[in-house]
Amino acid sequence: MTVQEANFTFDNSYARELDGFYVPWQGANFPAPKMLRFNRELAIELGLEPEALANDHGAAVFSGTQSPQGADPLAMAYAGHQFGGFSPQLGDGRALLIGEVIDRSGNRRDIQLKGSGRTPFSRGGDGKAVLGPVLREYLMGEAMHGLGIPTTRALAAVTTGEAVERDGYKPGAVLTRVASSHLRVGTFQFFAARGETDKVRQLADYAIARHYPELTGAKDRYLGLLQRVAAAQAALVAQWVLVGFVHGVMNTDNMTISGETIDYGPCAFLDAYDPNAVFSSIDHHGRYAYGNQPTIAQWNLARLAETLLDLINPNDSEDAIRQATNAINAFPLLYQTEWLKGMRAKLGLANDIPGDLDLANDLFSAMEGQNVDFTLLFRHLADALRGDTAPAKGLFKNPTPFEGWLDRYNRRFEKEDAVPVALAEAMDRVNPLYIPRNHMVEAALEAALQNDMEPFDKLLAAITAPFASRPGFADHAQPAPESFGPFTTFCGT
Ligand code: AMP
Ligand code: MG
Repeated sequence: MTVQEANFTFDNSYARELDGFYVPWQGANFPAPKMLRFNRELAIELGLEPEALANDHGAAVFSGTQSPQGADPLAMAYAGHQFGGFSPQLGDGRALLIGEVIDRSGNRRDIQLKGSGRTPFSRGGDGKAVLGPVLREYLMGEAMHGLGIPTTRALAAVTTGEAVERDGYKPGAVLTRVASSHLRVGTFQFFAARGETDKVRQLADYAIARHYPELTGAKDRYLGLLQRVAAAQAALVAQWVLVGFVHGVMNTDNMTISGETIDYGPCAFLDAYDPNAVFSSIDHHGRYAYGNQPTIAQWNLARLAETLLDLINPNDSEDAIRQATNAINAFPLLYQTEWLKGMRAKLGLANDIPGDLDLANDLFSAMEGQNVDFTLLFRHLADALRGDTAPAKGLFKNPTPFEGWLDRYNRRFEKEDAVPVALAEAMDRVNPLYIPRNHMVEAALEAALQNDMEPFDKLLAAITAPFASRPGFADHAQPAPESFGPFTTFCGT
């Protein structure tokens, strides 16, 4: 089958409605694009014909070398605070939005290439991506989706046939990702920093129509937009924290307006619980450490708020600041509410009882400094409810504080209607067994570089159904062996 039969029906609202917010652009002409992995299930969800795309014709499209009919490829403009410092012009330096499709559920989805060559926003960069980081983003996005956490998803990984210089030469690759949009906090900052209030308004109205349509036409819609984004991010970051995810580079250009996780660079999942965990080689001061993520999300939202002040109240800047400040100050409670809701589910608690917040927090106090495997602990708590406390206790170097906590936890079930064993089942449906553990991800990527995709495929199979224990995946549920040592990730641009 050919690309003409792929059934792309683009409806490119960004290109159509936001002239001046992007540069129309084309992908590089790569020598030999080859399809490495294609996400058939997602293609079907998007209304595409997978058989027409899961081949080298598809590779030509998903490398940017060939533009499918109806695409309006473009590079988006955005700015961003990177590690706290403002860059007024970032933009898609190596990405191309090829267009939007309406999926089978009626939702608008962006299809974007990453690594498709230089654009007017490339600055000093080469516009390229390499195989390891492309497969890493593929795995991480699909893992997040498997966990039920809002995220961009991977549609295709293509090799380009080119060698790209990255500390020596690496095989070039392009990731195709799908997002409910690529609007970022940084998109607003780009126009606000230039004093282009009309453009910020146009962008805000577009974002409202696309993501929060219930606000359309409302008098206080710009404050509403800020509140909605804050609520979406509170829910998102709470879910990251509840599965031990460290994004690693929460710059404002990497924070979406939709509330989806985006830009899997130096991200990682915790093995051992550690609030100070940092995996990124460039995060020297721990700005984006595991436990700092809610604080940073709030900081980023304050940057979004600043871009909206002229819209919130054009006539009275003090009033605008007061309203925006209230919205930002609401974030810690929004976050805590989402986190506690998630923790109740993780602990198997159906009823909402005063004291649950302390009980949840005290579990983490008992874990601190104990090198406890975050993921296994919650699975083993379900085992404890089934009558076997040994596996959970065995995770602690010194189990005494945890034993005290376990007594309180057991007593807490007196306030539940169901028997603990029944609650254990529900816990196993929210506490994953299979996460993309760092040593497994590294092994999969190393093998892929040697043309062996089996570990990648096996890991992908594990994490796309992370909750139900399955035979043949025992290794995927284990922490890294000690010999793996401390783990560091690199941005891999
Ligand atoms: P990221 O760290 O992926 O969020 O990217 C931050 C900014 O750097 C964005 O504007 C990217 O488009 C740009 N960028 C990252 N890598 C490259 C590259 N290899 N070539 C050009 N631009 C890049
Ligand atoms: Mg980025």
